[in-house]
Amino acid sequence: MRRVAEITDCATSAVRGLSRQIIAEMNLLIPGGALVSIADLPIEATGSAVTLFLQPPAKEALRDAIRDRGGATLRLSSAYRTVAQQFLLRRQFDQGRCGIPAAARPGRSNHEDGLALDTPDTNAWRQALEDNGWQWLGPGDRVHFSYAGAGTREDLGTLGVRAFQRLWNRYHPTDRLTEDGEFGAQTASRLASAPADGFPPPRLLRLATPPLTGEDIRRVQEALRTAGFPELPVTGIFGASTDSAVRAFQTREQLAADGIVGMATRRELGVLF
Ligand SMILES: [Zn+2]
Repeated sequence: MRRVAEITDCATSAVRGLSRQIIAEMNLLIPGGALVSIADLPIEATGSAVTLFLQPPAKEALRDAIRDRGGATLRLSSAYRTVAQQFLLRRQFDQGRCGIPAAARPGRSNHEDGLALDTPDTNAWRQALEDNGWQWLGPGDRVHFSYAGAGTREDLGTLGVRAFQRLWNRYHPTDRLTEDGEFGAQTASRLASAPADGFPPPRLLRLATPPLTGEDIRRVQEALRTAGFPELPVTGIFGASTDSAVRAFQTREQLAADGIVGMATRRELGVLF
């Protein structure tokens, strides 16, 4: 397992697995979702490190800009950046590596707001982007545009930090971080020791002999109670009543009613890891 601190690659795609988990966690924290994929637009990422997510209103404005240019393909060298990606960039900058001219502290980059993009084709796109609420930052950072418009949130930088803190705590119940969204020394050291490919996937939960027990089952039981099965006792033991509730929930949500709590059922329950 490679930890974030062991990464020497310049490309931040080295933390893609962890980044995906952070985005999923952010979207659990915000009803309706904090970030949406923009991979369905005619966009070409110039490298594997580009994380194709934005806030929903920024995506719609980008869709309009692309339409204004007759559906031309927009090349992006950066879009959303997770706190893990910004952590790597900032460390490269501090160490004078990878030709990074400037990098904000983790939690503070406006690419972490999901309201910024970088394109190497500034001249071709500037008019269409500016006509749709995307402001050019100017010749000091000529690839960079940021979106301002109704319905956007300004707290995604801290939300991303809080998402990491929650993820960490779930896997380290005896080494908990304060879930305050502040990127302090404690959070920095835990991010450095987090697995770059993401925390290991959760185990499958199901009726078994002897019965499975654990904190993860307790969380699933609590989620089932909230989801319409208030009679289910929270025991941390996967018994027959939990099996029945899982199957009933799966039927209601049009999932395969197999009684197995895997990723699809977890996603519906809001208990991802
Ligand atoms: Zn930028």
